[in-house]
Amino acid sequence: MYRNVVVPAISEEELPRVLKKLELYESIVNNEATCYICGELLKLETVGAIAMMNDKPVLLCDKPSCLGKMTLLINEHRCKYAMASSMK
Ligand SMILES: [Zn+2]
Repeated sequence: MYRNVVVPAISEEELPRVLKKLELYESIVNNEATCYICGELLKLETVGAIAMMNDKPVLLCDKPSCLGKMTLLINEHRCKYAMASSMK
């Protein structure tokens, strides 16, 4: 049992702070951030989750298919999900 997927929800108010801490905020407001799975350009409103891959934070869009694929990847690599946005 290597499932170690933790998805604590973060609120809309917390998201910018968390993104700044991970040094991802600038890339989003500068339109440089893309979904790790589908490559779609991300905005603050479309960030669905933040995951840790090889100790690097990666961003996902809010499409369920991307979140599903990421969960598979995380289980494969035994990475920990960092957090998911609860924004909708
Ligand atoms: Zn995506």
